[in-house]
Order: sequence, then structure tokens, then C-alpha cells
Amino acid sequence: MAAPGPAAVDARYTNLVAWGRQQGLQASDIRRNGEMWLTNQSLALGFKADSQSMTFDGVEHRLTLPVRRSPGGLQVAVRDVQTTLSPLLRPPQRPGSRPVRVVAINAGHGGKDPGNTEGRRQEKHYTLLVAGELRRHLERAGLQVVVVRPSDTFVSLEDRPAKAARARADLYVSLHFNAFDGPGSGEVAGVETYCLTPAGASSTNDSGNHGGSWHAGNRFDRDNVLLAHHVHRAIKDGTDLNDRGVRRARFKELTLLQMPGVLVEGGYMTHPQDAASIYSPAGRAALARGIADGVLAYKRLVERKP
Ligand SMILES: [Zn+2]
Repeated sequence: MAAPGPAAVDARYTNLVAWGRQQGLQASDIRRNGEMWLTNQSLALGFKADSQSMTFDGVEHRLTLPVRRSPGGLQVAVRDVQTTLSPLLRPPQRPGSRPVRVVAINAGHGGKDPGNTEGRRQEKHYTLLVAGELRRHLERAGLQVVVVRPSDTFVSLEDRPAKAARARADLYVSLHFNAFDGPGSGEVAGVETYCLTPAGASSTNDSGNHGGSWHAGNRFDRDNVLLAHHVHRAIKDGTDLNDRGVRRARFKELTLLQMPGVLVEGGYMTHPQDAASIYSPAGRAALARGIADGVLAYKRLVERKP
């Protein structure tokens, strides 16, 4: 066995304090629990040693690799800098002549595919109701909307992004509700906003993983995370749902997108409080309004003048 070399440098990681300094962010000391904060006048980013969870401006994001301790402080994966931190801190801009005009909404499941089922409650029914609400909000804000599953019919996962592309949609929002029946299911509640896992990285959950390779949707990695952040934040601000964070997954719909997109899991049908919200018009209205606010916040950001 070869002797270990001098302090191995892992090129996959970069020092958080130094990176923060380059971005004009001041680093706190590392707290006893392993937390460190990078801040400027308007923004706080929280990191924790050995954790894949990061806080950006009050929203939890799941990184693709855990933050690590090193003699110089905490280290973060270069890929997470490139695909999460940097696009959130320095949002991409659309070319000036191309505003966000058309939004595709997918009501998850439909027809022979009910999605999650709790007693007589079927996910497909509630995603369709929220899609209608969301459509009204976005149209009122002057956007064009195409609902890629507008009635209780089955549309394949491949056809949904294709319909969005044919409608020349600028963004794609997919609506789902979650369920968890395992041990401790009474504790699992809240909203998760997913965007496509960056190429080569591993997803937050194992499910929905369609290989570590590059997908069409990865062309929009920077916009995907920015859209997810603002949609998630607005849902969090506008509803009583628990914050389960912005997460990464290779859900088939997201892999096939020809435009930036997100998938919202707007609560757990298996949790009494979430279920009450999902099954009530007021709860669905708040969710739809949150998503619309997030889409509009993203639109304002990427359309800003240089
Ligand atoms: Zn679903």
C-alpha cells in the first residue's frame, strides 16, 4: 500500500470562506454544532459540516454532496457551487428580447393513473384542481398558460414535456401531492420543490433516479434551481405547509424538458394537516397563489435589465 501523501487536496471541493469572500460574503466562525454562515447586508447562507442541507435566504436546499470540515474551515462541493450557489447568487438573465410569456402547467397523473390514493381521494383530482387555480393566477398576471393535462385523461410522461415544447412554453410547472406510509408517517409533512439533478450528481432521493447521465433538461440547470428556489419560497411564505426543501431528482418529466421547469409536491396526503389543506379549496388556492408568486418572482429576476 502506498504511503498517504501530504494532505490530499480533493478537487471536487472548495473552501467556503474563500468562495464567500470572492462573492462579498462574510463568514461567521464555525459554531459548536458545525454551522457556519455567510452573510452580506441582505442575504444569509447557512451551511453545516457533514450535512447536505443548506439554507439560502430562508429556503432549505439539498446539496448533491455533504459539506465537509477541513483545516481551513468548511468546504463545499464545486459542483454545488456551480449548480446551486452561483445561480442563486448571480441569477441568469434572459436575452432582453425574450420575456417569459408562456407557462406550461402539468396536473400530475390522470385517467387510468390516479397517482397516490388515500381512501377515495385520488392525487390526480387535486392536481387538476390546483392546475386550474394556478392557470387563473398566471393569466391574471398577463401570462399565457397551457395545461398539458387539462382533464381526467391519461397523458404519458413523455407527452407532457412534448406538449409544453409544442406550445413554445418558456417554463414548466408540474403539480403533484406526496404520500408516505412507512414508519413515522404521521411526522412526514410539508412541501418539496424538485428540480432536475445536475448532470453527474446524485439525486436527493433514490426514487425517480433515471441514471447519472446528461438529459435535455440539464441545459437549464441554472434556471431550474432559480425557479425552484423562488417557487418554493413563495409557497413557504403563502401557506402553512412545512418546508421540506428544494430537492433534486431525475423525474422523467424533468429530464425531458425543453425549457426550465420544476415539480412541486404540494404536501402529503398521508398527513392529517396536509391532507386537510389539499382537500380544501382555501388550501389549494393558497398553494396555487404561492406557485404563481414564485413564477412571477423568477420572471422579474431573469428579465431584469443588465
Ligand atoms: Zn404524483
